[in-house]
Amino acid sequence: MRTSMTCHICNTPSNESFQVKVLFKYDVTYYRCHTCGFIQTETPYWLPEAYESAITSLDIGLVSRNLRWAPTVEAIIRKWFVPKGPFLDYGGGYGLFVRMMRDRGFPFIRLDQYCDNLFARQFDVSDLPDVKNYELVTAFEVFEHLADPVATVDQMLQSGRSILFTTKVLPDPNVTPETWWYFIPETGQHVALYSLESLHRLAKRFGLQLYSDQRDLHLMTAKPINPTWFRWFTDLRKANLYNYFHSYPAQSLLDDDFQKVYNSVRNQPLKNLI
Ligand SMILES: [Zn+2]
Ligand SMILES: [Zn+2]
Repeated sequence: MRTSMTCHICNTPSNESFQVKVLFKYDVTYYRCHTCGFIQTETPYWLPEAYESAITSLDIGLVSRNLRWAPTVEAIIRKWFVPKGPFLDYGGGYGLFVRMMRDRGFPFIRLDQYCDNLFARQFDVSDLPDVKNYELVTAFEVFEHLADPVATVDQMLQSGRSILFTTKVLPDPNVTPETWWYFIPETGQHVALYSLESLHRLAKRFGLQLYSDQRDLHLMTAKPINPTWFRWFTDLRKANLYNYFHSYPAQSLLDDDFQKVYNSVRNQPLKNLI
């Protein structure tokens, strides 16, 4: 076991370490950076095993998370972005969020190489490779899965210059797997845990600002954002109110999308319909 590792976020030595049993069998070392507070695991050699199912049976929060954030994301788009998009949901899982946002009238497209696309078939980057320059990239519960956050953020920023994402911020600097459930070492998937400071530093590395509700939702962007509005929108009732009174007439894409999917499968064998 190494006693220190270079912090992926701020490049200083992360010299506090502790061991945790991952996937019920591997003794894995976690490193805490005393400069920015970021926690990372040793090089995660166990990931292929951890992703045999991309979404674990422990992730029962998937539906409520999508319901929770859709109105907030809509309000943020209405306030600071061009509603016509396009928008990219990076690590979009089963495609539920893409479908929900398209139903609300915002043209989201899914990207996820690790998970089956169940709800947003035909609205996947693999179906629409020519769409570029996304107005906004969203990434829900993705950042804590990143073995190399700087490289992945760099890649996301090639698609769009603003990233709206969720990951839980360390509730206090000294958390351990015994005191914070978000490590979930049983699944082996959470290999990067962020302090607020580490998220600010990550944004700064790309010349961007970070806006945050200090807990879950964060926006990395070069756009001037009023942080009070941002915090307002993280309140579900306020986001719904803002969306209701906002003048942009977002038309659900459900009918158009149905036609598109229908046209593409009508001459195909039956198996494409089921
Ligand atoms: Zn650091
Ligand atoms: Zn996760």
